[in-house]
Amino acid sequence: MMTFAERLARVSSSQTQQVALAAERLRRDGVDIVDLGAGEPDFDTPAHVRAAGIDAIDNGFTKYTPNAGIIELKEAVCRRYAADYDVTYQPDETIVCAGGKQALFNVAMALFDRGDEVVTHAPVWPTIVEQIKLAEAVPVLVRTYPDEGFAVTAERVLDAVTPRTRAIVLNSPGNPTGALIAEDELKTIVRETEAAGIWLVLDLCYEQLIYEDVPHNLPSVVAGEAADRAVLVGSASKSYAMTGWRCGWALGPRPLIKKMNTVQSHVTSNVSSITQHAVLTALTGSHDCVGEMRAEYRVRRDQLITWLAEEPRIRIVPPAGAFYLFPDITELLSPDAIRTSAEFAARLLEDVHVALTPGEAFDAPGFLRVSYATSMRRLEAGAERLTRFAARLALQ
Ligand code: PLP
Repeated sequence: MMTFAERLARVSSSQTQQVALAAERLRRDGVDIVDLGAGEPDFDTPAHVRAAGIDAIDNGFTKYTPNAGIIELKEAVCRRYAADYDVTYQPDETIVCAGGKQALFNVAMALFDRGDEVVTHAPVWPTIVEQIKLAEAVPVLVRTYPDEGFAVTAERVLDAVTPRTRAIVLNSPGNPTGALIAEDELKTIVRETEAAGIWLVLDLCYEQLIYEDVPHNLPSVVAGEAADRAVLVGSASKSYAMTGWRCGWALGPRPLIKKMNTVQSHVTSNVSSITQHAVLTALTGSHDCVGEMRAEYRVRRDQLITWLAEEPRIRIVPPAGAFYLFPDITELLSPDAIRTSAEFAARLLEDVHVALTPGEAFDAPGFLRVSYATSMRRLEAGAERLTRFAARLALQ
């Protein structure tokens, strides 16, 4: 029997893949699948950003770059955060990575040791948990609840802190809930973790996709009081519809960024030079495209909520950000019919050909993640099939 590194024994591959693979098989058989599983924008990368990528290729900007990214891009990231949040970071406090995912991975490798506890909140984007395990640290999940709008409260987070806590990873807007962390809650977390010097990792990859007019200046909360133990992670993927280009970044104290650079230098080196050139244009060019995409997501969110409200047993907390609904479907489950949300998702795909991700993938059984990063026409078809399926269940 083949054996593998012990480090992998507790690490799971992405569960979000299972429904996607089954959907792909059906699609190949010619079935019309409504895919509400997407974790990425359905929009094309904006034209001026695509053109910058093509320019890079045509002009021979196709060689290795400095490992942590070209200086122009690091400066642009710093300027973006200065403009958006009024925080000051220097280019040597910035690293450009292959997506927010690699930025978070570099953080995990640079900070977490075997036995360290790392607190985060659930429902959770699974990569956060698995990266903690890859670093041989221990994830500690703080639950959030739909009747509280999935709010992450300082009280619950701090209750989970022990002398072994190395870091707290916060994701806002959150995948899969779309919930935002309140500035005041973060202020309390900052204050109460100061004596122990606990690291604060903020995953802000959906930061440009916030639909409600609520304050969300988390960077300034940590940059003020905890600059020496906080790291901000961002990404071009969702903001500029650039998932396939692979570009994210981290901003943090110089010694940490240096260590993250060491990790990255032995794994992937620099992010594609072509991508860096395109992202530089995305960050420095007109942001009208971002506003247009955000406006469209907002309309879709509201419309999808209206359509799904036809079925009262699909209980929805309107999300403030990202592009997912995360309804509670426990009222549709029963011991002698469909027992779990995973089963529900599998049957939904089989019977009415709608693909979405069950809550189990986010450590939240009883929920579904419904992505609205798809056209209104497909959303309407998906909502119609989903409510029809649910109504039929009720009759059984
Ligand atoms: N953080 C969260 C919460 C995400 O959902 C994702 C992607 O799905 C990422 C970070 C990383 O995305 P990327 O690596 O494309 O920047």
